[in-house]
Amino acid sequence: MLYRKMPKTGDELSILGFGCMRLAQKDGRIDEERAARQIRHAIDRGMNYIDTAWPYHAGESEPFVGRTLAGVYRERVKLATKLPSWLVKNRADMDRFLDAQLQKLATSRIDYYLVHSLNGETWDRMAVLGVAEFLDRAKSDGRIVNAGFSFHGLREDFKRIADAYPWEFCQIQYNYLDEEHQAGTEGLMYAASKGLGVIVMEPLRGGVLAATPQPPSIDALWREVERRRTPAEWALRWVWNHPEATVVLSGMTSEAQVEENLRIASDALPGSLTAAETDLIGRVVRKYREIMTVGCTGCGYCQPCPSGVDIPGSFDSFNAFHAFGKIQEAGFLYVLRSGGVLTGHPAYASQCSHCGDCILKCPQGLEIPDLLEQVVKQFEGEGLTEREAMARNLFQH
Ligand code: SF4
Ligand code: SF4
Repeated sequence: MLYRKMPKTGDELSILGFGCMRLAQKDGRIDEERAARQIRHAIDRGMNYIDTAWPYHAGESEPFVGRTLAGVYRERVKLATKLPSWLVKNRADMDRFLDAQLQKLATSRIDYYLVHSLNGETWDRMAVLGVAEFLDRAKSDGRIVNAGFSFHGLREDFKRIADAYPWEFCQIQYNYLDEEHQAGTEGLMYAASKGLGVIVMEPLRGGVLAATPQPPSIDALWREVERRRTPAEWALRWVWNHPEATVVLSGMTSEAQVEENLRIASDALPGSLTAAETDLIGRVVRKYREIMTVGCTGCGYCQPCPSGVDIPGSFDSFNAFHAFGKIQEAGFLYVLRSGGVLTGHPAYASQCSHCGDCILKCPQGLEIPDLLEQVVKQFEGEGLTEREAMARNLFQH
């Protein structure tokens, strides 16, 4: 196992962290025996960072992690969990959630505590509710050791949030298709320049970059090189090639995934990809862009929309469906982003009033209202109500 130093704390963290959002399941619930065996095995092999959160596995992930780590394993890892920002209504809620999490995790301290799923708007709301004072107090009374935030928003907001509190770390979505999305490479570099450790989530973009079979034109590119690697290995090595990425989280479900990730994490040094390999990944990215339907770069210049439409989010889900063909995953992602479960107000493509404001602002010259109609046809018909219920069930308890 390789380790990287958390800049402000000096903690030596394993470059692979165990994400507890997609644990092995049996009969629709966590397969506790199997998932616990996988986590303890990874710890025995040197993995020392565990990430969970209030809503994962409908609230069951945190108590499961508490049971799994009880005894000797707890002190061998740094434990991370998150304040569910969308459920917080007032300052007192923050303490209520943290105290409940300490109980659920059967521990006296959270080593790395994050404000969960921030964007510009949710940060502003949390700031007004007093989250800075809450984090200061939780640190001083020892309930948390380090404070961070996880982010799903626009780059400008990422920098604003990074500047707004003396965070020790942040957590961003980062993979070879998301260099320009959300925090992106610019956000990664910005965080590193401020001395923040960076935890990377979604290195496989929700698993789609690891899926087999890959789209045929992508598969053909991977086969061009002599060195055979799985798509998952290429994607993980690409992230670890960046020295600014402190820990990469992987939501491991099977023993084979655990073994593969442990193997890669034993030699994925920063800068270890050759020029030919980074060039290959660059060509894979360009091919993905070709087979994605809408040429949206996620820059966010079209936002805010007066009707509240999440324009880049809508196109991202739409492109994910067209590139990977996974309607269930893309449709659920769309509802999660646009259905208002996390923000309290829906941002669906169907809310577009065709005012045309966004067209002038889009550097790609996209006919946004027409393209949004395609998004509506794809995602807002059959199955929408069920997907909304599923999202509420997962995140609003
Ligand atoms: S055209 Fe539609 S998406 Fe664009 S700004 Fe107007 S309401 Fe929003
Ligand atoms: S301005 Fe255009 S490219 Fe940028 S996020 Fe909006 S639709 Fe996408």
